[in-house]
Amino acid sequence: MNPNMNSIELSFEFFPPKTPEAVDKLRATRDQLMPLKPKFVSVTFGAGGSTQQGTLDTVVEMAKSGLEAAPHLSCIGSSKDDLRAILNEYRSHGIRHIVALRGDLPSGMGAVGELRYASELVSFIRAEFGNTFHIEVAAYPECHPQSRSPRHDLENFARKVKAGADSAITQYFFNADAYFHFVDDARKLGVDVPIVPGIMPITNYSQLMRFSEMCGAEVPRWVARRLEGFGDDRDAIRAFGLDVVTALCERLVAAGVPGLHFYTLNGSAATKSICERLGL
Ligand code: FAD
Repeated sequence: MNPNMNSIELSFEFFPPKTPEAVDKLRATRDQLMPLKPKFVSVTFGAGGSTQQGTLDTVVEMAKSGLEAAPHLSCIGSSKDDLRAILNEYRSHGIRHIVALRGDLPSGMGAVGELRYASELVSFIRAEFGNTFHIEVAAYPECHPQSRSPRHDLENFARKVKAGADSAITQYFFNADAYFHFVDDARKLGVDVPIVPGIMPITNYSQLMRFSEMCGAEVPRWVARRLEGFGDDRDAIRAFGLDVVTALCERLVAAGVPGLHFYTLNGSAATKSICERLGL
């Protein structure tokens, strides 16, 4: 086993379930993943507050089950009063960990809000709540899709950290070199916080391609072609996906990453299998 494996901190990302069946599924997923002893779990948030109650309910339930739970919070489409109220509510439930984002407004949703960028949200949280929260921010080894240039995006990332972020989670990627270059460049700009790679298990070809198109993550051509070639053979897709993502994680761990943050999509099987193969 790689000696770096012992120091790897795991975290798992969930989204708020919308139906009673989905609530049960998430509870089962949580119970399956608990033995992996994650450092924390996080729960996504719909920009403009569209999943606000769901995020709160899910985070509070996760925290009650003994997990450190971190709600995502996006500022786009929200006023400072809205954000202050949500943060006060989280604080009253004992939540001390936040993933601070700009977010993307669903199409057709009106005003941008009072804070334009995640760096402004981080500054706002620090100004209003001091060190109450551990703040995570997002990082993009393959560049944020709306960024002007890689350099500009990197500088904007550094700005979020200087505003008071404690650590970062990356968008998922399948090309480890993009992550290594990004971390090197960020260090040269004086960013010294942990930058934890976001890991997307591969279980579904069309969903992966759709998500990747939206968030600007590159699926290497050979991976996309192989997945496409499996057609409806879901077992073959899962088996190949497991090989690809485990190999990626092995490389990252060997290079000494501080942790792995899994985008679980509320399922446990793929994440669990990868962690087992890694010997975690
Ligand atoms: P920012 O850091 O504000 O950056 C957004 C864009 O603006 C970038 O192109 C950046 O280069 C540019 N920029 C930043 N500052 C400036 C400036 N001062 N001047 C000019 N340009 C600037 N979305 C959700 O809606 N809900 C979630 O729960 C969620 N969770 C996520 C978790 C992770 C780990 C990641 C990586 C992404 C998540 N997202 C989520 C997606 C995220 O909201 C989108 O990628 C969004 O478009 C950008 O959010 P950000 O916080 O990275 O924005």
